[in-house]
Amino acid sequence: MNASVDQNTCIGCELCVQTCPEVFKMKDDKAVAFCNPVPSGAEETCKQAAGDCPVSAINVEG
Ligand code: SF4
Repeated sequence: MNASVDQNTCIGCELCVQTCPEVFKMKDDKAVAFCNPVPSGAEETCKQAAGDCPVSAINVEG
């Protein structure tokens, strides 16, 4: 599974970083997915982060 953040959509609320720090970190006031493929142990929280993003900026596939 791979995750990505649409940099043009992210509003930098940091929610995904709190939910799934194994995959997301802040960079220049936007979140980035820095760990692909997503570690198997973080897939559930990664999906949760994608579902909880207030602007649906997180894409997960695979
Ligand atoms: S939850 Fe969404 S808007 Fe908030 S930092 Fe993460 S990607 Fe950006």
